[in-house]
Amino acid sequence: MAKPGLQMKGQRFFQTMLVAVLAFAGMAAGAQARLQVVVTTNIVADTVKNVVGDAADVISLMGPGVDPHLYNATQGDLRTLSRADVIFYNGLDLEGRMGNVLAQMGRSKPTFALTEYMTTDELLLDPDWATADPHVWFDLPLWKKAVLRVRDAMSEVDPENAAVYHENAARFLAEIDALHGWVEEQIASIPEERRVLVTAHDAFGYFGARYGIEVVGLQGLSTDTEYGLADVRNLVNLVIDRRIGAIFAETSVSSHGIQAVIEGARAQGHTVRIGGELFSDALDAPGTPGGTFLGMIRHNVSTIVAGLTSGL
Ligand SMILES: [Zn+2]
Repeated sequence: MAKPGLQMKGQRFFQTMLVAVLAFAGMAAGAQARLQVVVTTNIVADTVKNVVGDAADVISLMGPGVDPHLYNATQGDLRTLSRADVIFYNGLDLEGRMGNVLAQMGRSKPTFALTEYMTTDELLLDPDWATADPHVWFDLPLWKKAVLRVRDAMSEVDPENAAVYHENAARFLAEIDALHGWVEEQIASIPEERRVLVTAHDAFGYFGARYGIEVVGLQGLSTDTEYGLADVRNLVNLVIDRRIGAIFAETSVSSHGIQAVIEGARAQGHTVRIGGELFSDALDAPGTPGGTFLGMIRHNVSTIVAGLTSGL
């Protein structure tokens, strides 16, 4: 007589194994099917993530505190890029040292600049800069065009999920609209004569133009150019003349220059302090308030308002 108990056990074991093998095969197939989207900065990453949601993996080459103007692709980055299904970058020469790598990738796989939909009349042109000012994300209505670029690119590359990308993009665009209204209110709460934003480099030109605040950076549009003693002296004079009480450091730029301005002003009897640290070209770490695009804008605006209205 056969041992039914043992046979049952054996059958059940076989069934369990079969289920496990099938599940594993399914997972592997699923993992392969998930598109690998590789992006340059974490600002681009968060924007892309908002559009793709769970439909693709988004891998950012640059993390918190990384300066995209000075960033060189590593060997690991080249491997990551060569495995990518889609590549997104900011463009307008923000990733100045990655230009050749991105152009090369663009010849063999879908590669998109988030700034592609922006027209010349929407961009800030600088005579000292080969292309337009690349820091377009600080003009929220303009950054909506970056969202549309991602939505359309992903819908083209992965048409099966086009409806998902459209739905996600619509939600994110509405969130950007809401935040834009809040930023306008916040900046309006700063007395007009105090609306001067002094920062380490010229990352806030679009912010200033959109929200009506004068911006002055110690360094130019790229941190690739050095500042000199004359730049520090000019900024010290401006801070004293305009009776500016707070100037701002940036998380992706050394604060030495900003400190030199503070000391230069102090030597002439004017007290100016660091009003806080702004996120200019990189978000904070994931999971922190400044770790998302919208959170980073909220952090910056709150910091600017607190710094410029202090002592009122
Ligand atoms: Zn910059």
